[in-house]
Amino acid sequence: MFNSVFKIVYFVAFLLITIVRKAHTAQVRTLKTVLDKKTLPDMVLLGLAAIGMLIPQVYVFSSVLDFADYALPNWIGWIGVVIFGLAIWLLWHSHAKLGRNWTPTLGIRDEHRLVTEGVYKYIRHPMYAAHWLWAIAQVLMLHNWIAGYSFLIVVVPHYLLRVNNEEQMMLKQFGEEYRVYMQRTGRMIPRLSL
Ligand code: SAH
Repeated sequence: MFNSVFKIVYFVAFLLITIVRKAHTAQVRTLKTVLDKKTLPDMVLLGLAAIGMLIPQVYVFSSVLDFADYALPNWIGWIGVVIFGLAIWLLWHSHAKLGRNWTPTLGIRDEHRLVTEGVYKYIRHPMYAAHWLWAIAQVLMLHNWIAGYSFLIVVVPHYLLRVNNEEQMMLKQFGEEYRVYMQRTGRMIPRLSL
């Protein structure tokens, strides 16, 4: 247990990002959803993502996965720490901006408003970007074929499954307002052209 400093730092970062998510989940728990677009594949991938988050904890607190370890220089782990910090900030910021309009699965709330402030001014999917950053940080911090990649292999298909459906749903809901918003923003990387 804790045979590397990155295991401790990873665990602390994981706790912080979990607190950010849980705090916002609690805030929206009683809000009404007027359009529910959740699908079975989405729910399955959410379940797999939970497993992808659990596996690193097994790695941190036991030695059962140590057989899959490989060696990488420490500076790579420190880059992971910085990226994880960015992921925590981005998840916190995008939750703060999206507020009551956030739904854990695809859906539209009553009195749903299109948010275009903060980081949403530049990119349409900062929360998904935060999950990509978290998954990449995990690879860089946990030098183990199973614990390092367990989240990334779920985050990528989950994003690919969701992003088009979400944008179609938003186009249907907000029409021209979302079409114009799409033209001036990038999905996860800011659009540079004016
Ligand atoms: N894709 C966004 C939000 C993820 S949460 C991100 O990565 O930050 C998914 C829910 O957020 C969707 O069901 C939709 O209702 C809502 N949503 C997505 N973009 C939004 C926006 N710009 N304004 C308001 N709600 C949005």
